[in-house]
Amino acid sequence: RGLQKYSTAAAIDEPITPPVDINYTKLLINGKFVDAASGKTFHTVDPRTGKVIVDVAEGDAEDVNRAVSAARKAFDEGPWPKMTAYERSKILLKFADLIEKHNDAIAALETWDNGKPYEQAANIEIPMVARLFRYYAGWADKIHGLTVPADGPYHVQTLHEPIGVAGQIIPWNFPLLMFSWKVGPALACGNTVVIKTAEQTPLSALYVANLFHEAGLPPGVLNVISGYGPTAGAALCSHMNVDKLAFTGSTSTGKLVLELAAKSNLKPVTLELGGKSPFIICEDADIDQAVETAHFALFFNQGQCCCAGSRTYVHESIYDEFVAKAKARAASRSVGDPFKQGIEQGPQIDPEQFNKILRYIRSGVESGATLETGGTNWDRRATTLSPQFSRINNCLQDDMLIAQDEIFGPVQTILKFKSIEEVIRRANASEYGLAAGVFTQNLDTANTVSRALRAGTVWINCYDIFDAGIPFGGYKMSGIGREKGIYSLQNYLQVKAVVTALKNPAWL
Ligand code: NAD
Repeated sequence: RGLQKYSTAAAIDEPITPPVDINYTKLLINGKFVDAASGKTFHTVDPRTGKVIVDVAEGDAEDVNRAVSAARKAFDEGPWPKMTAYERSKILLKFADLIEKHNDAIAALETWDNGKPYEQAANIEIPMVARLFRYYAGWADKIHGLTVPADGPYHVQTLHEPIGVAGQIIPWNFPLLMFSWKVGPALACGNTVVIKTAEQTPLSALYVANLFHEAGLPPGVLNVISGYGPTAGAALCSHMNVDKLAFTGSTSTGKLVLELAAKSNLKPVTLELGGKSPFIICEDADIDQAVETAHFALFFNQGQCCCAGSRTYVHESIYDEFVAKAKARAASRSVGDPFKQGIEQGPQIDPEQFNKILRYIRSGVESGATLETGGTNWDRRATTLSPQFSRINNCLQDDMLIAQDEIFGPVQTILKFKSIEEVIRRANASEYGLAAGVFTQNLDTANTVSRALRAGTVWINCYDIFDAGIPFGGYKMSGIGREKGIYSLQNYLQVKAVVTALKNPAWL
């Protein structure tokens, strides 16, 4: 998919320059790209080199205020919530077509800003964005309430109405995919939106915001604020005119978001937070398939996935074979300039994350884990981390920091277990509950484990399957609510009961 034009033999020392013009670096407020009220800008940086790509307008509380006013007006006065659901659906479908048309340019921006492999962005993520918008376009004209039986002479109906102005905050690991999970259902239900992108990755959302207007979205319905969390993000959470908040990011920030929402106008909040997801490999598993899937579950997107299968539990009878094969697979991973063809892993998002990952590896080794491969061979300039792979020798060491904390990097922690009952208990002994996986050929084991695990998603003999209709979200401290699928509609709708007294009794 257009990869040729980005692929040369250049090494990461001479990074490939993505041939895409950056036309959108300002805030989108009320249908116009505008400077921040303060006039301030911030750098967005190429994770391959640490060099500035471009300066972007830095929104803060005043810009959030302007954006919320525009979204409020677009909601209260229309036309968005007042137009027919079919009209809204057609705009969302047209937007999805435009995403497809601009697929390669958007993917290039995403890779440039985030460091993820271009092939992954162009062939998986951006097509998923188009798919997601089509999915919710399909829902727009199928949202309706119920007729409810009453105990007296009343006609009772429920109306499913949009909530109003949705404030949304997204992270940097899947910038446009997270944008689609938030904006798709909110707009399909007739809400208006103010979305704050992550400060590390502002570019792709601004690019597609322009496509939305080409698709016919009225001004003020979608507003995009680039900027920092404690300023722009916090202002959105506290705003009295925001009717609903949706946040994806770390658990610690999620707690702050909830607090700000409660202290202002008690707006409802959905949260998609961190994880430390267990991936259980049973003794009857097809080992080669399990090794490959567990590798993908952890290393995908440089390990920067909230649902990464980051606690790999392997049955003791196959542990040594699994570790040897997993080590060989990790060592063979192709790491380099993410624009090059065949590259599986680009740089981590920034030096801060990179150094945090190295600290975790050091902590693992110091507490007795064996570092099997990688971990030291890295290029400081490009913040490229070679695949990391650590193994815990003793199955009783679940209390090591690397087996408990979300590392958010390419560090696979492999633990040994003896029985299903034991591994279920250990898998559930986490403050998180975002996702889990189990590999077995035994249907009864698969059923037992999937029902017993306290996680929002359980993948059986697969991992990271993310169709638009499959709900996603966390148990415990991994979040509140579900995104995607029919479940996300509930986040953006409220129910009104309308009770009408009937003049005549029934059957007259
Ligand atoms: P983060 O919490 O630091 O930032 C996420 C977003 O919140 C950013 O837009 C940031 O600017 C904003 N923010 C920061 N401080 C804020 C504040 N005080 N008020 C309001 N907004 C604020 O997280 P991150 O480092 O960008 O992302 C990594 C984390 O996100 C990981 O823990 C990962 O597990 C989680 N994540 C979860 C999911 C999910 O669906 N559950 C998806 C992706 C990432």
